[in-house]
Amino acid sequence: MTSSGFSAFSASQPLAIFSDFDGTIAHPDTLNFLAETFSSLEFRHGIGKRIASGELSLRDGIQQEVAVIQGTLEEILSYLKKHVEIDKAFPAFAGWCCEENIPLTILSAGIKDIIENLLRPYNLKQVKILANPLRIDQGRWSLQFLDETPWGHDKSRAVRQAKTEGHCVVYLGDGLSDRGAAQIADLVFAKAGLARFCAEQQIPHKVFADFHEVQRELMPLLRR
Ligand SMILES: [Mg+2]
Repeated sequence: MTSSGFSAFSASQPLAIFSDFDGTIAHPDTLNFLAETFSSLEFRHGIGKRIASGELSLRDGIQQEVAVIQGTLEEILSYLKKHVEIDKAFPAFAGWCCEENIPLTILSAGIKDIIENLLRPYNLKQVKILANPLRIDQGRWSLQFLDETPWGHDKSRAVRQAKTEGHCVVYLGDGLSDRGAAQIADLVFAKAGLARFCAEQQIPHKVFADFHEVQRELMPLLRR
């Protein structure tokens, strides 16, 4: 990270941490993985390109990806559990946040039911999850989006709210749905596409690989 990112932190402001789920806590991105499984890599890349160019809203792109998924939630979960890994350092990171009284919220443009289920074994009751609930109607998968925005779930809303309440906001993410939140967060940890976006937009950020690294970077800030 450029030092300007951390210099925005004031010890007088309590931290609030918000993190994306897919591609940030879970690898691979569950929705991308399912879209590739039930359709193809080309299908998924095509949607990604149309979202990036502005031709398609994130909301409509995600809904198209979700629509190709076939099976019961139980079947999809058991498939995902075989192929998706939760960042090994995330449960300890969540525990550390709890000990330090730092609110930790997962902000996802994806499927709430999947996130809850994949995290259930870790018993992270203190972690709040804001994501789109799943609807399966006669076998057809769709999302009930959290808001009316073109993102389906505008992650910047929760970040803005926390800032209004006086928090220094830490944001972690990897993709398109994280851009708006990263633009207004005080400290940004980024991977993949979000890291490239932040570099292009000159948004101070730290590129990170796992939550152990994030915790190590944040710990000294609490002692300032
Ligand atoms: Mg993501």
